[in-house]
Amino acid sequence: MSLVTEEKIIEALSTVMDGDKSIVEQNMVQGLQIKDGHVLFSITVDAAVGAQAEPLRKEAENTIHALEGVLSATVVLTAETEAHAHPDDVVPEPRPEAPLLEGVKAIIAVASGKGGVGKSTTTVNLALALRDQGLKVGLLDADIYGPSMPRMLGIKGEPTSSDGKLLDAKEGHGIKCMSMGFLVEEDAPVIWRGPMVQTALTQMMRDVAWGELDLLLIDMPPGTGDAQLTISQQVPLTGAVIVSTPQDIALLDARKGLNMFRQVDVPVLGIIENMSYFECPHCGEHTNIFSHGGAKEEANELGVDFLGEIPLDIKIRETSDRGHPIVDQDPDSPHAKAYQEIAKLIWDKATTVLEDKAAKSPKIVM
Ligand code: ADP
Repeated sequence: MSLVTEEKIIEALSTVMDGDKSIVEQNMVQGLQIKDGHVLFSITVDAAVGAQAEPLRKEAENTIHALEGVLSATVVLTAETEAHAHPDDVVPEPRPEAPLLEGVKAIIAVASGKGGVGKSTTTVNLALALRDQGLKVGLLDADIYGPSMPRMLGIKGEPTSSDGKLLDAKEGHGIKCMSMGFLVEEDAPVIWRGPMVQTALTQMMRDVAWGELDLLLIDMPPGTGDAQLTISQQVPLTGAVIVSTPQDIALLDARKGLNMFRQVDVPVLGIIENMSYFECPHCGEHTNIFSHGGAKEEANELGVDFLGEIPLDIKIRETSDRGHPIVDQDPDSPHAKAYQEIAKLIWDKATTVLEDKAAKSPKIVM
């Protein structure tokens, strides 16, 4: 099979028209990356056009996907920060300056030092536990390397736009959700880098109709690199929670996460130890496969609260794989209870942070 080249892609995209000129001619194709037959780029559109450009995005994606040597094509829409003034256009107000996530009271990032520690599984179960406390909860799946929220919340289909401007947040088990997984096929290897991550995330925060929420949880990409730092700097985070496994604690990955949030003045609400111990489903024996308890000690040492521990249990994996995470499927089970207790702690702490902020902000005295 012949390898796809940048020239071939540009040539093919020269046939994709936006109005009477191609997207290449109008310099709308940005950030083209090709890796082992996987192609990724963005199409920059006027912020006012927003989701209306979805057919254009799809056409570009299909055009590239049809090329020989292309295994996957991933195209995202990014909005231009400066809207052009077209005198003839009767366009809705552009939103480049719109505040990110307006209508959301608290925003909490769920982070981990590395991938595979169960961050997403923990996030979805916490979201469901917070929902059961009567809160309106949203979940932004920013885990661009492995977006799994649509599957875990049992959500299917592509996002729609009711007003032609903003994407509607999807909903699963009463949780509003927006995920890269809606825009990218789940098994397509995605190699998001630097500015692409940033624009795509900003779009998810600015161009999605989240509505009024008590709390938005952000499932962060794993690790503590540029993408994570960008989110922490750009989003008005109320706080962050770090998920780690006992080994991860031992390898100090979680410590890096903690330092990153401290660097940008985001309060770390605490550490959760996942896959903390194993309880035999047959005999009930409690086994510490890894050096259990490391997170608690580490948290103490670092001056961060320890929020709780979640056991390693196949039920936790199976239920979320099926789109019915354990807190939803079996809320009275001991594992669901563990998530519920942690969720309660997190909400108490977030409320305290919000109250402190409100007390410190200047008041207008009439
Ligand atoms: P991350 O978001 O950190 O990459 P995931 O949440 O995707 O991790 O979890 C990685 C794998 O581990 C998934 O298959 C998930 O179902 C499983 N998993 C996560 N937490 C647990 C747990 N407490 N018990 C059993 N399996 C778990």
